[in-house]
Amino acid sequence: MKTAVVTGGASGIGLGIAERLRNDGFHVATLDLNPPEDDDFAYRADVTDPAQVAAALDAVRAKLGPITVLVNSAGLDGFQRFKKMSFEQWQRVIDVNLHGVFHTIQAVLPDMLDAGWGRIVNISSSSTHSGQPFMAHYVAAKSAVNGLTKALALELGPSGITVNAVPPGFIDTPMLRKNEQAGRLGGTVEDHIQRTPVRRIGTPADIAATCAFLISDEASYVTGQIFGVNGGRNT
Ligand code: NAP
Repeated sequence: MKTAVVTGGASGIGLGIAERLRNDGFHVATLDLNPPEDDDFAYRADVTDPAQVAAALDAVRAKLGPITVLVNSAGLDGFQRFKKMSFEQWQRVIDVNLHGVFHTIQAVLPDMLDAGWGRIVNISSSSTHSGQPFMAHYVAAKSAVNGLTKALALELGPSGITVNAVPPGFIDTPMLRKNEQAGRLGGTVEDHIQRTPVRRIGTPADIAATCAFLISDEASYVTGQIFGVNGGRNT
């Protein structure tokens, strides 16, 4: 059995991915700020802190062996007019969404290189295609994640490691519902559904299905791709 780590696996898309990979037969550990207490495979770590990431991944290795699958789903959004955006706001969103990905990939890479096999999937955002007002920090960070994905795919391909990104569209998660409640969606959920060619909201399972494919052995020829899952929007 292969061991997979999913950051942000306690909620929303990450939770859906962790469930899917468990059903597919992987050992799965999750890394979160607030992991569920009753889950022996849920670890506490702030992905912006390399020491916390290293400690959590060492604990995962001790229990489940080398980590050869990594899905980066931990994410933080933010809403602020750019004119009013403080550097601290900018920095925190970049830190979680971009530097968090740097830290986790660096920490698991030795396992993948030793194994001569690895799968990395980074959850970015469809806002990297469309742009998004009041989210300059978030769109900049997620766009950088897409770039990082492409660069690493070229660097790590010869070592048997694929690196892909999945930018989700409009997915029903606590993050989205929080934004709905705060009136930050730019319309109702129904408005967004009407703007989506397949006329429904996406689910964590939609993202998980794509991740499952990208992680499979069948996808060994797929790397460096930004694989949109968005019901036809922002393609
Ligand atoms: P979510 O339900 O809020 O889940 C995000 C998870 O990441 C939460 O468990 C959160 O913990 C964790 N997290 C946040 N900061 C962290 C940190 N510094 N260290 C460790 N864990 C941290 O959001 P989601 O909608 O599932 O989003 C998952 C990913 O998809 C994110 O990267 C998001 O940007 C991306 N995305 C989502 C959508 C969408 O429509 N939902 C669209 C495009 C992209 P806490 O809850 O404790 O903070």
